Amino acid sequence: MSAMVHQLGEQVRGALGSVHWRVRHREIGIVIGAGDGVGRIKGAASVRYGELLERADGLTGLAFDLQPNVVGVLFLDRSEHVSAGDELRATGRVASVAVGDELLGRVVDALGRPLDGGRPVRSDIRRPVEVAAPGVADRAPVREPLHTGIKIIDALLPLGRGQRELILGDRATGKTSLALDAILAQRNSGVICVYAAIGLRKTNIAEVVETLRSEDMLRQTVVVAADADSPAGQQYLAPYTACTIGESFMHAGRHVLVVYDSLSSHADAYRRIALLLGRPPGREAYPPDVFYLHARLLERATRLHDRLGGGSLTALPIATTQSGNIAAYIPTNLISITDGQLYLDSHLFNEGVRPAVDVGLSVSRVGGKAQPKVLRQLASDLRLLYAQLHELETFARFGAELEPETRRRYERGRRLREALKQPRLRPLRTAHEAAVLFTIGQGYLDDLPVEQVVGFLGRLIARLDAVDTDLLDGIERDDAIPDDAAARLRRAIDAVKRDTTGDAPS
Ligand code: ATP
Ligand code: MG
Repeated sequence: MSAMVHQLGEQVRGALGSVHWRVRHREIGIVIGAGDGVGRIKGAASVRYGELLERADGLTGLAFDLQPNVVGVLFLDRSEHVSAGDELRATGRVASVAVGDELLGRVVDALGRPLDGGRPVRSDIRRPVEVAAPGVADRAPVREPLHTGIKIIDALLPLGRGQRELILGDRATGKTSLALDAILAQRNSGVICVYAAIGLRKTNIAEVVETLRSEDMLRQTVVVAADADSPAGQQYLAPYTACTIGESFMHAGRHVLVVYDSLSSHADAYRRIALLLGRPPGREAYPPDVFYLHARLLERATRLHDRLGGGSLTALPIATTQSGNIAAYIPTNLISITDGQLYLDSHLFNEGVRPAVDVGLSVSRVGGKAQPKVLRQLASDLRLLYAQLHELETFARFGAELEPETRRRYERGRRLREALKQPRLRPLRTAHEAAVLFTIGQGYLDDLPVEQVVGFLGRLIARLDAVDTDLLDGIERDDAIPDDAAARLRRAIDAVKRDTTGDAPS
């Protein structure tokens, strides 16, 4: 008897619950004020944090700030025409985005709606934009390289799949170019790329998309864009959307690279939102929870356990420093929640050392374990050489007499720095990089004028591509340069050298 009553009670409770649910989701909020991409509504008392609200014409907002009688709304559409008295209906849904292969090659906004003039993204699978990061038991250590095709990174600051590496530097120091080159290097790796443009100028976003298209990389990439003129809500949501799109590929066992360009603009958008919603800013005029905002995004980058398919999501967040101040609030936060940073220095950049990576201020904490063996061996001595170069240069500049051995290291260090220069849009394969490191390490550049180093290595790589592709394939397959490969490399270097110095081949 009592069991029956209990069961009946459960049924009634269930029915009431569903009535409550339906009533709740017909709940309407009335706009009492709006402007600058945010608004306030009264009425929708049981709306939840993060719930989507809709006006009858489809205009969308996000419940973002829950106060006792008033809900702060972040609009995800242009909201100039929202005015007091407008009705916003609580939808019972959180922000979500269509995911899957359908998105490849597309440019979408933070709700996954096309920005490229193409057809709507048709996908049966949607995922919430904000989800919890995988737990510790679901993660595996980083163990495979994330090849960037950029010599100075792959040699001295190698990245691994599932790593979070911050790209940091002043304005116009090549941050976007570095990230874009890392994307272009994935053409043959099968790694899916997601580029989140947050708060950038429309023209800059268009340039990135155009480069991806002309380099035939767009079809392997998804672009999530919220330009500087887009609603603040779009800029707030865009990195989470990009992460969700990337994650869906990771959960399918794929490897993914996500670039967030930039989290400084993201923090700025969030600060504007917080001020407009009347939340007081904290230290350095940023709301205190901006740290948590970025931590919860970057925590989602990982290598999944094999039991879950072994996919990975590598994150390259970008942040802008002012006058090289890496100790400012946002950079410090980001440094503390990533596995290292690539610091781009404006002085190096202006001296023509590009990419302008300052090796001394850069670190990659987990990628070293995943670095291809062939590069690790060739780079081990060069790392030290590069580190000493700055000091030796200072000595030399003050006219100090260098010991012959020190002089030799100094000269080789200068050639190493030349050798690690690289133009944009020219990612290299691992075997190219190995050949370059081999050439320096074996002293082949020591007698070459410094200004000829770049040209020399360019000709060497062109020659290897033309007549020695099997040698390059072999180096990558063996992950080593065995004696016979070394002999062939030496012959190639000698041949290019003869051409360079103009001597007739003997
Ligand atoms: P912003 O702070 O404005 O976003 P950024 O740090 O992203 O700038 P980029 O836009 O990538 O910098 O690059 C700035 C300029 O430097 C561009 O004109 C770009 O073409 C040039 N540049 C970047 N990397 C290289 C390189 N490796 N070699 C030559 N030029 C480069
Ligand atoms: Mg940039």
